[in-house]
Amino acid sequence: MGGSVLSALGEVLLPRLCEACGCRLNVGDTVLCATCQARLPFRACIDTGFDEDVECDAAIRRVMAVFTYVHGGVIYKLTAKVKRGKCRALARNLGRLAAVEAARAGAFDGVQVLVPVPLDPSKLRRRGYNQAMEIALGISRHTGIPVADALVRRRGGDSQKAKRAGERGHNVKGAFAIADQSACAGRHVLIVDDVMTTGTTLAECAAVLSGCAASVSVLAVARTAMV
Ligand SMILES: [Zn+2]
Repeated sequence: MGGSVLSALGEVLLPRLCEACGCRLNVGDTVLCATCQARLPFRACIDTGFDEDVECDAAIRRVMAVFTYVHGGVIYKLTAKVKRGKCRALARNLGRLAAVEAARAGAFDGVQVLVPVPLDPSKLRRRGYNQAMEIALGISRHTGIPVADALVRRRGGDSQKAKRAGERGHNVKGAFAIADQSACAGRHVLIVDDVMTTGTTLAECAAVLSGCAASVSVLAVARTAMV
């Protein structure tokens, strides 16, 4: 009772805003207003595999993405904010948002540990957090599956954003190594990232982890629409 009065008072004094459209949130809304929530482009979390030209020798159990990444859409706005920095809580909420939908689709069935895609150290310093780690923590909060920072990024490289798909594979080859083998050994690992384009980065992480994990699946919060 006291808590609800306080939260109602808080809504009046310090109104919370929708992270996608900026309108005022109602009591009970967490990140998005009802309109933006209804516009989330859920993909049903089915295994779609990586793009054809992505080489991955590892046997991957499932390749999943929760939402479709549409330029200017709700997920585009949220992930862009998270990447700009100072939005650690939003990154975790994004993970929770994805987890609620993905769990309904059985995406976490059999998964024993969540491993975020590591961020380039210079970006980590600038941003203050790895968004994939925060997303994984948000998923963990909803599912109870533990998170392990089991991969490390060996070297930098230019942003993949501006590069063509063919060049990306080359850019991430050898970029990752296992940092915590005991966290993954013999387990079904789910590698977590924010946005998947071709899948090259996730495929490379999966190849590295498949050496010690019992099985590997990957999950991105969003995936760019197939062309
Ligand atoms: Zn909104």
